[in-house]
Amino acid sequence: MRFSRSLAALLSGVLVTAPLAAGAAEVVVYSARNEQLIKPLFDAYTQKTGVAVRFVTDKEGPLLARLQAEGPNTPADLLITVDAGNLWQAAEAGTLAEVDSPVLQANVPAHLRDPGNRWFGLSVRARAFVYNPARVQAADLVSYEGLADPRWKGRLCLRTSKKVYNQSLVAMMIGRLGEPETERVVHGWVANLATEPFASDNQVIEAVAAGQCDVGLVNTYYYGRLKQEKPELGAALGWPTQAGVHVNVSGAGLTRHAKHPKEAVALLEWLSSTEAQGLFAGLNLEYPVNPAVAPDPVVAAWGTFKPESANVAEAGRLQKEAVKLMDRAGYR
Ligand code: FE
Repeated sequence: MRFSRSLAALLSGVLVTAPLAAGAAEVVVYSARNEQLIKPLFDAYTQKTGVAVRFVTDKEGPLLARLQAEGPNTPADLLITVDAGNLWQAAEAGTLAEVDSPVLQANVPAHLRDPGNRWFGLSVRARAFVYNPARVQAADLVSYEGLADPRWKGRLCLRTSKKVYNQSLVAMMIGRLGEPETERVVHGWVANLATEPFASDNQVIEAVAAGQCDVGLVNTYYYGRLKQEKPELGAALGWPTQAGVHVNVSGAGLTRHAKHPKEAVALLEWLSSTEAQGLFAGLNLEYPVNPAVAPDPVVAAWGTFKPESANVAEAGRLQKEAVKLMDRAGYR
């Protein structure tokens, strides 16, 4: 591995290094997924195969910038990040390599991976309604578009449009409804806001539970985590039933300049396998991407839903349009 002394010094401080036997195989991972969500999987993989997995965790922006700055000298073999919008950006930036893997094609449904095979979904996250059951009937919540109806005036809470989750949601709506209709909807959301958009999904859930607003949109794993912390939480999950539920992925791709491509693809394939998927999704209360694996019982208890069927790569392709549209509609 050849990289500059200063970079080596920098990396030595942050790479989580497993004890490495001389000549032993290894994979180096840059991950925007938190350590507690990936380390148990890497440990299990090392135990099973003897392949050491070293990793760095950071936010997706800095990780991508780092990959680009390092170029051919990057030590990273795999990039793990959340949201198809971010995976799409990484691929567009030329940091990921095509992987031709029958295993990944079999384990990951086609609409949850890059049509160009540069990244693959590893878990599915759903963006659903969170509502206050004391003030809202679940049956009144049928679609994202429905939240633009004047009946919700002063009753809606949203997270900021700066978060990629909402950019992806709106991008997929543009793909489904077209730009004029999506803009009308987002305008309606803004008109219905109970308060300024929040910085996090958790704040949306807390505001709904506190009665500050009656309904919001959140990724279901935030609800799951908060509910585990606070079982008395006065908020419930609801599914859009009219069109498909907006789903996104966390996922991974082989880096263009990987030093251990064979080992990295083997790890990627294992992460998509029935053996690893329960843990990969379950640790964050997400849905397995591999349809052969059942969700965690906590997640399964939220009921079933119909996911949108468009390729999640659309979230990246239409991201710029989504950001501009939200700005025009006054969604901050
Ligand atoms: Fe998240």
